[in-house]
Amino acid sequence: MMYDTLFLDRDGVLNRKIDGGYVLTPEDIEILPGIPLFLKWAHQTFRRIIVVTNQRCIGRGMISLADIQVINQAIDNKTGNYISKFFVCPHLDEDNCCCRKPKKGLFLAAAEHYVINFQKSWMIGDSETDLIPAKELSMSTVFISGKDSIFADQTIPLTADLLRTFKSLTQTK
Ligand SMILES: [Mg+2]
Ligand SMILES: [Zn+2]
Repeated sequence: MMYDTLFLDRDGVLNRKIDGGYVLTPEDIEILPGIPLFLKWAHQTFRRIIVVTNQRCIGRGMISLADIQVINQAIDNKTGNYISKFFVCPHLDEDNCCCRKPKKGLFLAAAEHYVINFQKSWMIGDSETDLIPAKELSMSTVFISGKDSIFADQTIPLTADLLRTFKSLTQTK
């Protein structure tokens, strides 16, 4: 298989980011355009789909890890149940943990859970902090952004373009 694992950031990739706030209840979840169809395709193309997400709202005491897991499950349900597992960093910057992106800990935790070939894996994120650890692990990257980045192999402004972008990548490789 040409593709191994598809890693995804959560907020700003699967669901709309809340300006200056956090997704704290399932009612806050707004799935972004094109995501369910893209994940349906990706599920047939990749061995597995994994979400790696920083949630410092847990460290700030705004929500429990259990309630984050309820929200993650709701996101999975709303997008077709294609996600194998969510890996969550609950820490604050000042905790200096080894999992808060741009550190690699969430990806390494995933590799303890699954046999992962990072060189055949992709990361999709809307922040450079998503792409930096992916590049350190020799993964390919897609940046959902209006700006380009030296850490991005592909940059697209909207999630609605993900399916078309990946289909053309599959054809040209
Ligand atoms: Mg994000
Ligand atoms: Zn952490």
